[in-house]
Amino acid sequence: MTSDIDKASHETDLAANIAMVRERLKKACLEAARPLEEITLTAVSKTQPREKIEQAINLGLKTFGENKVQEAMGKWSALKQQHENIELRLIGPLQTNKAKQALGLFDVIETLDREKLANALAKAIAKGAPSIPLLVQVNTGEEPQKSGIAPRETVDFVKLCQQQFGLDVVGLMCIPPANEPPAPHFALLAKLARQLDLNEISMGMSGDYDIAAQLGATHVRIGTAIFGPRARALPEKWEPVFG
Ligand SMILES: *Cc1c(COP(=O)(O)O)cnc(C)c1O
Repeated sequence: MTSDIDKASHETDLAANIAMVRERLKKACLEAARPLEEITLTAVSKTQPREKIEQAINLGLKTFGENKVQEAMGKWSALKQQHENIELRLIGPLQTNKAKQALGLFDVIETLDREKLANALAKAIAKGAPSIPLLVQVNTGEEPQKSGIAPRETVDFVKLCQQQFGLDVVGLMCIPPANEPPAPHFALLAKLARQLDLNEISMGMSGDYDIAAQLGATHVRIGTAIFGPRARALPEKWEPVFG
């Protein structure tokens, strides 16, 4: 059983972390002469238990990001019924066989990254799944192991999704390479979004959201800076090893 003191100190942590993130965003906006209201704070709640998410909701957060359909189903089906006006965004890769399920659960999918998925989403929508706003994931660093559309193919791909598949593409998202300064990647994503006249630009995580805010982000995706470090999942068949 957790004591009231433990519980209170946890909630204070979460409140303090959220306040700190808001303060840093405010400062970045001031420096870039942008109104703070242009930026939505997406709290990345992957691996976080329901109780912690509920605390974050009670502290006023309304937009959440999850990276796995299955995990999000388990945690959010009930949470979304209990709390109105929550926006849930898929920020991790989507398999085509989960397209219908994802359209039913999420309010926005940020990871449209290939034609096969565009086709699967369009088919599910034609069969009655909700047509929700979508972001195209751009592989700004052209990393072979990372999903996303190459920058030079992004304009054509967005047009294909909109015109041929009839999808509601409203923006772009990126995850810059881990070992490079993120600013050029953020600037490239913002430029592509402007070129395509798209409203949403999802970029910036715990380590670099202020830079993203200065370079035009409309959505920053923040996990660790709000919830603290994530516990590493144990392997499926974990067994203790002795001596
Ligand atoms: C986990 C994750 C984040 C949040 O990362 P932090 O560094 O914990 O803020 C943001 N975007 C995506 C796509 C993620 O998977």
